[in-house]
Amino acid sequence: MTQAALDWLGKNHEEIVHGLADLVAIQSISTDGEHHAEIDRTAKLTCDMMRQAGLHNVDLLKVGGSLPYAYGEWLDAPGKPTVFLYAHHDVQPVNFVEQWQSDPWKLTRRDGRLFARGAADDKGAISALLGAIAAYRKTGNTLPVNVKMLVEGEEEIGSKYLLKFFEAHKERIKSDVIVVCDTENIEVGIPSLTYSLRGIVGVQVDVSTAKTPVHSGMAGGALPDAAIALNSILGRLYWNNGALPIPGMYDQVRTLTDKERAAFAKLPFNADKFRQGAGLVPTARFAVEEGYNTYGQTWRRPAVTVIAQEASSIKGASNQVLPKASAIVSCRIVPDQKPEKVLADLTAFLSKDPPWGCEVKVTPAGPPVDWWMTDPNGPAFEAALAAMRGGYDRDPVAIGCGGSIGFVGPLSALFNGAPALLMGIEDPASNAHAPNESLHEGDFKKLMASLVRLFDNLGKLTPARVK
Ligand SMILES: [Zn+2]
Repeated sequence: MTQAALDWLGKNHEEIVHGLADLVAIQSISTDGEHHAEIDRTAKLTCDMMRQAGLHNVDLLKVGGSLPYAYGEWLDAPGKPTVFLYAHHDVQPVNFVEQWQSDPWKLTRRDGRLFARGAADDKGAISALLGAIAAYRKTGNTLPVNVKMLVEGEEEIGSKYLLKFFEAHKERIKSDVIVVCDTENIEVGIPSLTYSLRGIVGVQVDVSTAKTPVHSGMAGGALPDAAIALNSILGRLYWNNGALPIPGMYDQVRTLTDKERAAFAKLPFNADKFRQGAGLVPTARFAVEEGYNTYGQTWRRPAVTVIAQEASSIKGASNQVLPKASAIVSCRIVPDQKPEKVLADLTAFLSKDPPWGCEVKVTPAGPPVDWWMTDPNGPAFEAALAAMRGGYDRDPVAIGCGGSIGFVGPLSALFNGAPALLMGIEDPASNAHAPNESLHEGDFKKLMASLVRLFDNLGKLTPARVK
């Protein structure tokens, strides 16, 4: 049955690519609030594709004021595990249009890759998951497991309603294993299973020194400068190549085990490529802590970033002492940090001893997102690793991710600790969120072949034996 499904994928690859082309042609941008009609259209198209692939009970669902979710299921494998499949159909906007080498809304094949906004993040995952489902449904008319597939429409704006959706549809979506295709392979051709994610805690810092700007010729040197006060506070965060200088920050940080250190050291890493990718200026050095490589640093150490700062715009600059300045400080958190403690430590650190005694207000910016980490062992992980080994014809690696996917932990908890398998779809050249986003077509095929094998491997387990 599996071989027939794999053969079907080979024969129908162009069809699958056409389906992806239809998906990326719709400008389902969620970040600007101006493309709700397009998001409705991708949700509907996803529903159509679900029906075509052979899913049942396909529905366009919403909860509260959410954007539409596409949902479909196939539950005709009694006694077999139920697999929850996640992807999202919304995309990032197209900024820097002039840097795109082809139309961002037209799937374009070039150098073994498929270019378009959303090709990798995350419409490629919709096509891959449905490809694997169709491969079974179109050949043996059956699947080795039960599946419940959810495709979200607002991942790129923080999945605001997702936890509410899970609660509202708890019984309907209940599953034994979770499969998420929205992370990265460490390199093209190297199948990667992500077992840790960082979380986020953010604060806004508002500094006030006066009610109004005052001419700097009259008051410069006498009145405190809000922009300098703010930047002196932000300057406290500079870590050079050591630990972050925030007291308490590392109280709960889980130490890397020797085994993890050794595993991270063995992963491929090319510093020059990383420099080039970021366009790092020649004089700048990496900011990693001594004793960590880039993976250890970005997957398992906390980080602070100033993601916004406002005082006065350069365009409208005039000679005045500024009375107000604000910034948002975002902090990536890691196992076993508690978001509330990080928030308290960060707030205390930024509020203490204000320069010139100015007013400093530090308030939470957005809800915190918790980190997630799992032990990538047990029957479900073995099923996934074996499937990826077969699909890519090489040993998979277990990796971390410096980014955040807030729902993985809560969903796994909702399903009584169901294992979550995060299988990579992007690679370092995918440029998700950036110009010339693309999906590596060879890896796309290998991912589908892995998913086919994963369904087969999981089908050999019972629901009780998946964990
Ligand atoms: Zn994504």
